[in-house]
Amino acid sequence: MTITKADLQAVAQGIRDHDDFVISIHESPDGDALGSLLALKLSLDQIGKRGTMFLVGSIPIPFEYRFMALEDLVRGDPGELVGRPLIALDAANESRLGSDQRLLTEAPFVAVIDHHHDNSRFGNVNLVVAEASSTSEVLRDVLAELKVRLTPEIAEALYIALVTDTGRFQYANTSPKTLRLAAELIEAGADAHRIFQHVYETIELSKLKLLARALEHVEVYEGGRLVISYLERKDFEETGASSGASEGVIDSLRAVAGVEMSALIQEPPERDGRRVSLRSSRDRLDVSEVARASGGGGHRQAAGFASKLSVEELITFLRNEFVAKTSGQAG
Ligand code: AMP
Repeated sequence: MTITKADLQAVAQGIRDHDDFVISIHESPDGDALGSLLALKLSLDQIGKRGTMFLVGSIPIPFEYRFMALEDLVRGDPGELVGRPLIALDAANESRLGSDQRLLTEAPFVAVIDHHHDNSRFGNVNLVVAEASSTSEVLRDVLAELKVRLTPEIAEALYIALVTDTGRFQYANTSPKTLRLAAELIEAGADAHRIFQHVYETIELSKLKLLARALEHVEVYEGGRLVISYLERKDFEETGASSGASEGVIDSLRAVAGVEMSALIQEPPERDGRRVSLRSSRDRLDVSEVARASGGGGHRQAAGFASKLSVEELITFLRNEFVAKTSGQAG
């Protein structure tokens, strides 16, 4: 039996043995976090368990995910949820669940389900599958172990997670298993075209204007191998864009010919300090190493960190890291 199989069974058994869960995801959630959250909540309902969806902080959910059935999502103070068994999804370490750690420290049982290779395994039981495209792909196996029937609603939530975390099935994390799962979800009732229209073709005009700001600020360094842009607080304010509107901006930066690393520095509203998103193109370097050097994390191809540094200081840091990590490599 591989470790993963044992971990899968341990997580499933932990869920069978407990009830009245809190399900928590990382702050500034993306489609994988939100889709996995909803899929697990609906699955717990189906097998006669209770689960409360919780999201730290007050940053609004990105506009393109507001069509999802997240009305019961609890925000802000965890209050009476403290002390319940916790299932953490798509969170690589404790700090990703926010600075108020009571949900974690007071929980009688913690299960971690994730796909980040640098996950610190902070649960009592941990299912971390680094080869999986997304947390939803890992969660699918847990649901199968729990004999959850894929309803159209569960399939849709899992599909939203899958399609967004794989860059519409184009990133390097897309495997035959990912595509088989996509087919299974569509067979179970997920409407891929409807989801595409909601997630990718229902954007706010302010998001487009924010993208324009980011494109105006693009600078290339190191002979075009490093591309950096930034979004300041005023870019959000003047365009009327909310924090989540910057999701996807970095995809335009990473696509430039010859780029090996792209970075988006942003100072979103409702948040102290800056966030930096990193992407690796052409598999030239592991950007999670750069993120970890600043207290963040992520994957080889996509990583991020939070920082109190200025835009100029961050550009200097990123340039130095890039040169240090790529010097000596063949061209
Ligand atoms: P993003 O650029 O926000 O889309 O994030 C890309 C990847 O980096 C995701 O897998 C995140 O989980 C990870 N990541 C982003 N910010 C942080 C952070 N502050 N700490 C740890 N991982 C992060």
